[in-house]
Amino acid sequence: MDNLAPRILDLMARLSGREGPEPASPPPLNRAAIETAYRQALRRWFELTAQGQDAEGEEVARAYQEILRLMDEVGEPRATTLRREWAQEWWRETGACPFCGERGAYHDPDRGGEPSNA
Ligand SMILES: [Zn+2]
Repeated sequence: MDNLAPRILDLMARLSGREGPEPASPPPLNRAAIETAYRQALRRWFELTAQGQDAEGEEVARAYQEILRLMDEVGEPRATTLRREWAQEWWRETGACPFCGERGAYHDPDRGGEPSNA
């Protein structure tokens, strides 16, 4: 019996992914950092959207890739929940639609792009 405890601990360490592939959901500290990065990437995206034709193509592509990567890391459905929350926050702060850059309206993607008061 005395030898069992260390073996169980060892097994648990293996199962928790320390010696295997990355666990499916990141540990809490990591998660907070990922969500902060996701928020920054989205806000950058809304900024580029507001610039419209003036936005630099390469930067738009880079920001887009970054968002896709972070969405993957955050995971659904949370990635979508956060995106909606931050899109509305952006709109309240800047008065510009986060999806097309137009000033005034918020084209809610959950209502087929119809303007809403969010
Ligand atoms: Zn819009």
